[in-house]
Amino acid sequence: MLAPFTAGWQSSDLHPLIIDKSEGSYVYDINGKKYLDALAGLWCTALGGNEPRLVAAATKQLNKLPFYHSFWNRTTKPSLDLAKELLETFTASKMAKAFFTNSGSEANDTQVKLVWYYNNALGRPNKKKFIARAKSYHGSTLIAASLSGLPALHQKFDLPAQFVLHTDCPHYWRYHLPGETEEDFSTRLANNLENLILKEGPETIAAFIAEPVMGAGGVIPPPATYFDKIQAVVKKYDILFIADEVICAFGRLGTMYGCDKYNIKPDLVSVAKALSSAYMPIGAVMVSPEVSDVIHSQSSKLGTFSHGFTYSGHPVACAVAIEALKIYKERNILDHVNRIAPKFQDGVKAFADSPIIGEIRGTGLILGTEFVDNKSPNDPFPPEWGVGAYFGAQCEKDGMLVRVAGDNIMMSPPFIMSPEEVDELISKYGKALRSTEERVKE
Ligand code: PLP
Repeated sequence: MLAPFTAGWQSSDLHPLIIDKSEGSYVYDINGKKYLDALAGLWCTALGGNEPRLVAAATKQLNKLPFYHSFWNRTTKPSLDLAKELLETFTASKMAKAFFTNSGSEANDTQVKLVWYYNNALGRPNKKKFIARAKSYHGSTLIAASLSGLPALHQKFDLPAQFVLHTDCPHYWRYHLPGETEEDFSTRLANNLENLILKEGPETIAAFIAEPVMGAGGVIPPPATYFDKIQAVVKKYDILFIADEVICAFGRLGTMYGCDKYNIKPDLVSVAKALSSAYMPIGAVMVSPEVSDVIHSQSSKLGTFSHGFTYSGHPVACAVAIEALKIYKERNILDHVNRIAPKFQDGVKAFADSPIIGEIRGTGLILGTEFVDNKSPNDPFPPEWGVGAYFGAQCEKDGMLVRVAGDNIMMSPPFIMSPEEVDELISKYGKALRSTEERVKE
């Protein structure tokens, strides 16, 4: 079986939906059928389908310098300029250096090497383990898949790697105990994290990685006080905090970064996706002055930080990303997101009393719906019923694309979506839901 992680495997035998063209919040297939793109590609085309300024930025750079690398103290102007612009966008804690990758997975792999190098430079080579969370998604390369907490990424791949541990998924609705408040739940999870650290030995734990709002695991916003309590534990044991902002950054939650929303003060940050509004593949890591100072001051002793990709800081990708950041600022994209987000959230959450919905959760422009029986997290529908898949197929038939993972439905529309398009999204969601309810009754 190739689904559900078939990205990159191409076969016309699978009868894929072939997307041919995009325009604003819509994409078109090769037969000309129009779809509202409720997932913004893969949580990424923040500025929608045909932003002429991004096309112009790419074209200009392609004509001037389509490629030069960023190795051995050589680089390009777009790469340097993007590093400066990007670092200025992050204000939750201080970031001093940026390193460019081609993807979010490569960004998270880079984080692991940075953290290991940092601890080696500090003379503590045994501080190597990473703690991530069940149901997290950090990418598909060997290390990023190891960090991820989704069994499908581990089973049959001999993963996760031994240095990766997983702690609780912070999903209150699914995992809270009877009578437990969100705050109590967060306290319990922070205690569990502390117990795990103590059991393993704090001197062996290098870093903790988290998405501010979990994306591919089913859109799971943190419960109240969660990140305050987790950060206190991590800090107590001198463990670095890596914020995986690959989905949340640049406005998805109504703040520039997820860290702004949840008062997270990370040591390292990963971004990708909306960095270029996905017009070019690019990701980045940002590194705090404390970490980068150690790496740089020790580099003569340890040798260079030997890590980089041919396309790190690709000038065309960087030129497009610079333009995307400019557009977010000039068009006050955060204001727009905050204007349409309540309509999106309230409009979809109005369906929460459906007998087949357990929970609708989200914030800003990200939403997850979980189908269950009896409104209980303990009563999943039989997988062979394909409830989520049926809902997704109804949406597609009606001209809307959503993400389906089992009985979880995920949406993260482009930041530029108009209020009328939000109305259309809600109406299509409602229609697909009604026919899914009918189907479940049968
Ligand atoms: N981190 C998060 C939170 C993601 O959602 C993703 C992709 O969806 C990644 C990392 C991996 O990014 P990429 O697919 O660009 O490698």
